[in-house]
Amino acid sequence: MHEMSIAMAVVDQVEQATAPGAGRVESVHLEVGQLAGVVADSLRFCFDLVCAGTVLEGAELVTDTVPARARCTDCGTGWQVGSPPDLCCPACDGSRTELLSGRELRIRSVRWADEPVLADQEG
Ligand SMILES: [Zn+2]
Repeated sequence: MHEMSIAMAVVDQVEQATAPGAGRVESVHLEVGQLAGVVADSLRFCFDLVCAGTVLEGAELVTDTVPARARCTDCGTGWQVGSPPDLCCPACDGSRTELLSGRELRIRSVRWADEPVLADQEG
């Protein structure tokens, strides 16, 4: 269960990115590679736990799955490897392949609740 440590890292990063007075966090978009080995449901569950008592409390975690793609270094063919990954080139049957994507695990965007417009009350 490494989802908990991922959730903690995400919350930590968002907290650091939150400017003082920015208000609470509404949602966090996360790119999760197909081969990152992360169960989105578990991650959301852990995220909710870690968020409690922080500026992220109640924030929604949105995960975007990044399909795993590989490229054959022999013939240059690219394909979606799927999960479990098929790393054999479908064109030439070669096995010298390069994984182009699928291991992503990064915050794509964070949305903060709109700050209330402060009325000018002095004067
Ligand atoms: Zn090939």
